[in-house]
Amino acid sequence: MIYYKTEEEIALIRQSCLLVCETLAHVASLIKPGVTGLDIDKEAEQFIRDKGGEPGFKGYRGFPATLCVSINEQVVHGIPSGRAFREGDIISVDCGVVLNGYNGDAAYTFALGDVPEETMNLLRVTKEALYRGIAQAVKGNRIGDIGYAIQSYTEYEHGYGVVRELVGHGIGKSLHEDPEVPNFGRRGKGVLLKENLTIAIEPMINLGTKHIVQADDGWTIRTKDSKPSAHYEHTVVVRKEKAEILSDHTVIEEKVKTNKELKQV
Ligand code: MG
Ligand code: MG
Repeated sequence: MIYYKTEEEIALIRQSCLLVCETLAHVASLIKPGVTGLDIDKEAEQFIRDKGGEPGFKGYRGFPATLCVSINEQVVHGIPSGRAFREGDIISVDCGVVLNGYNGDAAYTFALGDVPEETMNLLRVTKEALYRGIAQAVKGNRIGDIGYAIQSYTEYEHGYGVVRELVGHGIGKSLHEDPEVPNFGRRGKGVLLKENLTIAIEPMINLGTKHIVQADDGWTIRTKDSKPSAHYEHTVVVRKEKAEILSDHTVIEEKVKTNKELKQV
């Protein structure tokens, strides 16, 4: 069942997404060597609650934390731990918020210190792929157009691995609504996009193989070949001419710029 949103609902989802991005911006100001996933998770939860929101992931199907913190070869769904961040790590942070009954969802991969150029390129290409996907989220296109834009750029053009098992999603009163939004696909195939459909687009792109394995904790997804993986996510609304991005990475990137420990993507 696909729920198309009213403008009032879209305004509420935008508010949730902005709180998500402010939280990620706060996280961006905290990351440095020695800091742990547990540290940023605690800060993020407090930040969200102080602004009147609730963590969207905590308790979702039993997930134990506010953030998903996925380091290096971890793709997504990493449970925040006491593992200290180290110079050269890439750290994907995914955050969800519920505010006024509506979900927001966004993610950003941070580069801590001297990250190899090969990995920086993975981050840049994955981020660019997100915007190429978003450019397809217009009325009259189909879900496959979004996936094709992401896959053709990352896999066909750059030889990266596009994760198949995990996909983007509709979003609203529920964190995960229909339709699924894969990061691969065929042009002109899949669900027809109509105005006021709100979806989270979130390429999960691996430097090496597309294959993944799930850790024994039942959550953390990592690459099968242990090579790094990147994840960027926006919540967007399908419009007539051009998708409207409801989340806002610019607030995150402002904090990345002022945190000397982080490398700009
Ligand atoms: Mg997310
Ligand atoms: Mg999502």
